[in-house]
Amino acid sequence: MPLFAFDNTYARELPGAYVAWPPAATPAPKLLFVNRILAAELGIDAAALDGPEAAAVFAGNTVPPGAEPIAQAYAGHQFGGFSPQLGDGRALLLGEVVDRHGRRRDVALKGSGRTPFSRGGDGKAAVGPMLREVIIGEAMHALGIPTTRALAVVATGEAVVRERPLPGAVLTRVAASHLRVGTFQFFAAQGDLETLRRVVDYAIARHDPALAQAPQRHFALLRAVAERQAALVAQWMNVGFIHGVMNTDNMTISGETIDYGPCAFVEAYDPAAVFSSIDHGGRYAFGNQPQIARWNLARLAETLLPLVAAPDDEAAIRDAVARATEVIDAFPGLYRAALLAGQRTKLGLHHASRELDAADAALVDDWLALLQRGRVDFTLAWRRLADAAAGDDAPLRALFGDVDPLVAWLARWRARCDADDAAATHDPAAGPLARAERMRSVNPLVIPRNHRVEQALAAVSDDGDLGPFERLLGAVRRPFDDEAAQAPYAEPAPAAVTAAYKTYCGT
Ligand code: AMP
Ligand code: MG
Repeated sequence: MPLFAFDNTYARELPGAYVAWPPAATPAPKLLFVNRILAAELGIDAAALDGPEAAAVFAGNTVPPGAEPIAQAYAGHQFGGFSPQLGDGRALLLGEVVDRHGRRRDVALKGSGRTPFSRGGDGKAAVGPMLREVIIGEAMHALGIPTTRALAVVATGEAVVRERPLPGAVLTRVAASHLRVGTFQFFAAQGDLETLRRVVDYAIARHDPALAQAPQRHFALLRAVAERQAALVAQWMNVGFIHGVMNTDNMTISGETIDYGPCAFVEAYDPAAVFSSIDHGGRYAFGNQPQIARWNLARLAETLLPLVAAPDDEAAIRDAVARATEVIDAFPGLYRAALLAGQRTKLGLHHASRELDAADAALVDDWLALLQRGRVDFTLAWRRLADAAAGDDAPLRALFGDVDPLVAWLARWRARCDADDAAATHDPAAGPLARAERMRSVNPLVIPRNHRVEQALAAVSDDGDLGPFERLLGAVRRPFDDEAAQAPYAEPAPAAVTAAYKTYCGT
């Protein structure tokens, strides 16, 4: 039985949006990681994963039956500057499969060699950054955050030259699609409205089929993307995730997180936190992410205008700009609503209403201000707030130097919790213990701590030891579990380590 039952709509329906291109052969493929849970979801026969044939496919040495490898074209704003041609410089879409739940998923290789879009790059990837993508993607998935996921990582047996020679790797990535804001920008920048129109219709068919007949389907798509991105970035903010390189080519139409390059998790709460070595101006700082998402959506909106208004039709242009602006201006409200909904669950509240919005937002903002002023670990503070819900304030207090402001805030929070319970007299899940339990199911104990990720990757790259990677992966896949084995992965890095921490683009 072939590994994948491919059905390749992108290759079939969007000629002109890609270049057919074969993966490069690698000398000595060795499977480092395979995602059995995801493989089962994709309908892959478990027995087929262990043989040399699977490693050859995941390395790009064998193109499996039904695959049609293509390098997708896209453009993108990188740190605000427009590059009209980026494209898959080291990735190839092998094809699409419909999974067990009926969802169409892309299966793509990353690090599979040079393509016509490679510019100066070597088309390769290194083991460390590809295993990093595994860990962060699996952690995000376990946290309930939409994300592309790693199906496999193969060591190629070849050295990749970066600042120093590193072991090479190929990642197999699964995504709801690889359509990006930059995909639209590529054809808009070329003035190729014909292909752009087909890309829009393809995106609607794939991600928002209900909108196919909508009267203003372009702006309906824009609105749907805005809603997904608002929900996504709100989830990032509520777990302390810093993407690090929110260029328009790294923002999906599907609403999945994509491209785990220089990403990191905030430790001590700080909206100004930046870890990326190339983000000198802090454009992609933790607290800037919502504004950047909005900026990126405005770039998407611009690509749609020529599709709905002829260049000489001023009235149509004005109307189109007004419609696009309406969606872009709605983004902050969509984002704030998604953020607050998530924050309420983190606070252990489940009764919400419009009248409570302002007071609840103030409550959570004051909490975050306490964390920021005290340089308190974001993840642990939320988790220990669940202990406080169960009646034990001590673990939370231990995170703060000055506890007086915390004590005052806890009194406000408890009053709000009491009101929440009073609103739920017939709800069997009311009360402190139920609240603590609910909070522990949304406030993770374990996130991929930056220092843990680095240790695990160094062990593989430097010593060929997969043990720390596998143990870390096991821990981040159960972020809400409280058992003893999780404890070492819950600890923040020493402050000095975080202060010096830098992430790289993994290119
Ligand atoms: P990224 O920063 O990973 O989102 O990549 C931005 C662009 O650079 C994309 O067009 C990539 O395909 C391309 N790129 C990144 N690394 C390489 C590489 N080693 N070789 C060729 N192209 C690359
Ligand atoms: Mg990218």
